[in-house]
Amino acid sequence: MTEQPVPLRLAVVGGGLTGLATAHRLLELSAAAGRGIDLTLFEANDHLGGVIATKQIGGYTVELGADSFITNKPWGVRLCERLGLADRLIPTDNTHRRSLVLRRGRPATVPEGFQLLSPVKIGPVLMSRIFSPWGKLRMALEYFVPRRKLQTDESLASFVRRRFGKETLDRLVQPLVGGIYTSDPEKLSLRATMPRFVEMERDFGSLIRALRSTKTVPSEKASGARYGLFATLAGGIGELLQTLEQRVRAGGEVRLGTRVTDLTPLNGNGHVPRAAQVDGSLHSHQGFQLTLADGTQATFDAVVLTIAAPQISSLVRTFAAQAAGALAAIEYASTAIVVTGHKLADIRHPLDAFGLVIPAAEKRKVLAVSFTSRKFPNRAPAGCVQLRTFVGGAMQPELAELPDHELRSLVRGELESLLGVSGTEDFCEIARWRKAMPQYHVGHLERVEAIDQDLSRHPRLAIAGNAYRGVGIPDCIHSAEQAAERVWHGLQP
Ligand SMILES: Cc1cc2nc3c(=O)[nH]c(=O)nc-3n(C[C@H](O)[C@H](O)[C@H](O)COP(=O)(O)OP(=O)(O)OC[C@H]3O[C@@H](n4cnc5c(N)ncnc54)[C@H](O)[C@@H]3O)c2cc1C
Repeated sequence: MTEQPVPLRLAVVGGGLTGLATAHRLLELSAAAGRGIDLTLFEANDHLGGVIATKQIGGYTVELGADSFITNKPWGVRLCERLGLADRLIPTDNTHRRSLVLRRGRPATVPEGFQLLSPVKIGPVLMSRIFSPWGKLRMALEYFVPRRKLQTDESLASFVRRRFGKETLDRLVQPLVGGIYTSDPEKLSLRATMPRFVEMERDFGSLIRALRSTKTVPSEKASGARYGLFATLAGGIGELLQTLEQRVRAGGEVRLGTRVTDLTPLNGNGHVPRAAQVDGSLHSHQGFQLTLADGTQATFDAVVLTIAAPQISSLVRTFAAQAAGALAAIEYASTAIVVTGHKLADIRHPLDAFGLVIPAAEKRKVLAVSFTSRKFPNRAPAGCVQLRTFVGGAMQPELAELPDHELRSLVRGELESLLGVSGTEDFCEIARWRKAMPQYHVGHLERVEAIDQDLSRHPRLAIAGNAYRGVGIPDCIHSAEQAAERVWHGLQP
């Protein structure tokens, strides 16, 4: 009789989307290889999901965190398909497919040619009432602005000001970026967030010229397959998390309320080395010892860390100082989402769009309002609408910390003034996401490369999440699956 090999002991730290997707991929790899694993997922909270939380409230499907994901990055859709959720994916309802931006206190349409910060069509941009005649002329002059000679990273604000002028930055790019990254564009890395712009300038000398020559409009047809550019699940993003949770619980152990506080590489004999030995020279270690908040310890052949970058920094600093330094340098912003349900009859604005973004120049107290039930129609009962109002971000952090009653009345006042919302809400839910949104500041990609390079000395350790090469749901899934594959290969003899 052949002896079965001892199962590999694998740990995943963090039970948000990234941690669950990592654990799921490890189970897939184990099944495909016919190699048993003993998998444990550690989550500090008493529930899984991290910043994703779906609730059902009186006929409303309420998202307190992420509400949809982009489909032209394939990893979200592919995971749903592998989980048997393809039939549950729903596309956006195109009836109201456009965005609004506030201009002198009134919502105006974002020109069709400026979707997702890519100026794919110039005509509608020039027709828009968002810009002054001078602003439009300055934008058109982009054609003649010489190519930047420096190869170094640049802020998104500097790039847009240089090529299109200040008005384009203040009136459109800043609020759109605020809606995605909750960030200050003066600090945001162009290379890490909009690499396409860098390529267009490098290859064509001008973005307008690039668009006219290539005709590579990033349309739904080109990218988003049959789901449209954005998709969600019929029961909310929580459905993806629940399905992942079921799969992970079926193949491994989930330990809730269990914070990991320390990580120590084991030496070649499988022992914890003496303190003096725990440094960068420890190349041939055989796994890791995790210490939990209650002081207990457990050893694993490989570990994937999916918690926030500064927390990973403190776990790896004794044996990967360079990575720890770069991880600690990644800043995070906090945001609050106030989700409300309303009778349509109580709202003066027709809400004929997916949402409204608000330039900092308008000096308002909210960043954006998403008309959630206009994007996905089954999110509110008939005759009602669900709004998600974003407050705080990197530029107004103090507002996200207001007490509930103040936040609620701030949002009520802003909705009244921006969209003519009156009457009593059907419900109001407040979610505060503290230090949840990593900020990709100038030099971000160099920091990520430094982290990868230092950690490459530890093939049985991987990190994953939204702090490195993309903040969205598909990026997190991709990062998770790559991390799972990395440690899996690191374990092969
Ligand atoms: C408000 C908001 C709205 C968003 N909207 C969208 C959207 O619409 N579409 C989109 O694509 N993306 C969106 N995103 C981005 C996306 O949702 C996130 O990037 C992604 O969900 C992050 O998942 P994660 O698992 O990497 O991190 P998290 O969700 O933060 O999970 C990390 C987990 O680790 C746990 N943990 C922390 N420390 C420890 C420890 N020491 N030991 C054990 N466990 C620990 C935490 O409790 C947490 O559960 C949004 C993000 C935010 C914050």
